[in-house]
Amino acid sequence: MPEPLIFEKSSPERKGYLFPSLDVPIFENSLSSEAAREDLPLPELSELDVVRHFTRLSQENFSIDTHFYPLGSCTMKYNPKIHDELASLSGFSDLHPFQPEDQVQGALEIMFQLQNLLAEITGMDSISLEPAAGAHGEFTGLLMVQAYFKDKKESRRQVLVPDSSHGTNPATAAMAGYEVVQIPSNSRGGVELESLKQSLSENVAALMLTNPNTLGLFDENILEITRLVHEKGGILYYDGANLNPILGIARPGDFGFDVVHVNLHKTFTIPHGGGGPGAGPVGVKKFLEPYLPVPIVKKKKNSGQEWYYLDDHYPKSIGKIKAYYGNFLHLVRGLAYILSQGAEGLKRIAELSVLNANYMKEALKKYYDLPYDRMCQHEFVLSAKKQKAYGVKASDIAKRLLDYGFHPPTIYFPLIVEEALMIEPTETESREMLDKFIRAMIQIAEEAEKNPSLVKGAPYTTPISRVDEVLAARKPNLCWC
Ligand SMILES: *Cc1c(COP(=O)(O)O)cnc(C)c1O
Repeated sequence: MPEPLIFEKSSPERKGYLFPSLDVPIFENSLSSEAAREDLPLPELSELDVVRHFTRLSQENFSIDTHFYPLGSCTMKYNPKIHDELASLSGFSDLHPFQPEDQVQGALEIMFQLQNLLAEITGMDSISLEPAAGAHGEFTGLLMVQAYFKDKKESRRQVLVPDSSHGTNPATAAMAGYEVVQIPSNSRGGVELESLKQSLSENVAALMLTNPNTLGLFDENILEITRLVHEKGGILYYDGANLNPILGIARPGDFGFDVVHVNLHKTFTIPHGGGGPGAGPVGVKKFLEPYLPVPIVKKKKNSGQEWYYLDDHYPKSIGKIKAYYGNFLHLVRGLAYILSQGAEGLKRIAELSVLNANYMKEALKKYYDLPYDRMCQHEFVLSAKKQKAYGVKASDIAKRLLDYGFHPPTIYFPLIVEEALMIEPTETESREMLDKFIRAMIQIAEEAEKNPSLVKGAPYTTPISRVDEVLAARKPNLCWC
């Protein structure tokens, strides 16, 4: 039985609050409570009913804390609870963004350290912690690219993106006013070099690239790619959403990238998935530093003492792209993660994420089509082509996985793989869990062949089975009326 709407549990006059009686005169024009109720029908429940309602709702969903969550490209790794404890220390959570510098030296030190560590991890010279998500970082990066070329009095109108790129890349480029040019992939899943050469010109502002890319494959020609773009004076933008498998092993700065964003909420264990706030710091090479959003946290000596301060003296800065200094409590979580892992720990994360993905890929490739059969990084992309022959689509397999107790992988992305199933196990899953998922996938492959209608009717064990996937978007019903 699905949990009813909270409005359906409402009972007139029932209350979940207790106010003391009013000891000031009632304002003449104030709404009477009856009028307010009429205008704005709110549910009326006791506090206990509200607690039970939302607790039940939370249990009707899948989460990393309850289920294996191999959502490709999203890095749904375990988020250690100690980070939340640290972020909720009142010395952090009660800070006001306008508190004077001498009261927030500790907070500034945290941001300063994180800037330095992210610069070291990515191989960049300077970091801004301001952007609130990966896509926000991309936009920040392209605004800096624009400012840079404007400064050089060059007008470049195009941004190149591979056809395997994440949707945010072309969307960002379009939002920044660029013409988007798509570069096809080669048979190994990397950038097609000949097409890249043909598309390159003095009109290209930047190439946006994820490496490893969204197929989970490391581009073998990465140095040649960055060399070609630089040769034409273009900027290399690194989408760092897939940083996990190269942590401590390879650095985008060393490949030749000029601007990088990292998704703290993917790689660096900040809870995500509910559309909540994230953190997408951006790193740049020296020549782009003047354009960074302000402020940047700096350190100086103040009468012999170390002193952290906010530097916004960047006359060429693109300005502010978010209020204050980024999502500060997420920065606390990100720093806690990096420090608790240390350099060796970060490397181990990368190695295990690659090992786990390859382990699953090898176990599943007999049962599902694997369009790019080579060593993968942190994720791999299967195709449900074989199953489609029996009428079973990637989305049916995804729904059937719910019955086996798994959050489905990402499906239908990247766009260049037909019936794509993009699986990212992350490093925090045990061998037993990987095996359990592999067994479920094999069983579903067998069901697809022998009893396709079973898979096509799934899920059977969830509070709600199949819903009309477009109705809610096309005809949203946002009020209970
Ligand atoms: C998640 C992701 C993004 C966008 O990051 P958000 O933090 O969701 O804005 C960009 N590129 C790739 C490859 C991603 O996986």
